[in-house]
Amino acid sequence: MFIGHYLTALVPYSIETRKKPPSKVEPTWRTSPILILVLLLVAAQLPDLVLAILGLNQDPADVYDPAQAAMTYSHDLLPVTMIALGGSAIMWIITQDRRLALWAIALVIIHFVADFVSGFEHYVHGPETASLGLDLYTHSLATAVGIELAYCAGLLAWYVRREQTQGTPLTRQTVLILIVLVVLTTALSASAIADLVA
Ligand SMILES: [Zn+2]
Repeated sequence: MFIGHYLTALVPYSIETRKKPPSKVEPTWRTSPILILVLLLVAAQLPDLVLAILGLNQDPADVYDPAQAAMTYSHDLLPVTMIALGGSAIMWIITQDRRLALWAIALVIIHFVADFVSGFEHYVHGPETASLGLDLYTHSLATAVGIELAYCAGLLAWYVRREQTQGTPLTRQTVLILIVLVVLTTALSASAIADLVA
């Protein structure tokens, strides 16, 4: 999954930034909605970020090979657990917010589950351990794309409704931009994956 991970971050963003801060607490840079949004987006995409760093200077076909180190150390269950805890610690250090630190763990775990359903095959840790994942990217990319679009549509619908009920409705333009972004990035990532598995 690609853009769906980013959209997942909108859930904690909306929940955590639309709350009224207690009036005694002075707003600081730590509570800035933009900072929180950026951190949540990074947390949601953390395994892919680790994959990109580990895969620097590697052929894309090797980066996405489940038997290669980049995928094994960024998307298998054991390293993902470490990434979740590390991401949560960094979130805590920056924001000093326990709820956001817990959200960071949740976002990384949701990333793992989303990739389990719509992604490559992953393992507990390494191809000799138990297999985790439907591997739809290899077996049925069209099904994977359908699942990702449905996931994104569900999240977008939730976010639009939620912002409306919070009194901060999105403009039609923003919604349109988000929809175009979802369709475009899904099409681009699907064609890149089709090349990889060809
Ligand atoms: Zn991923």
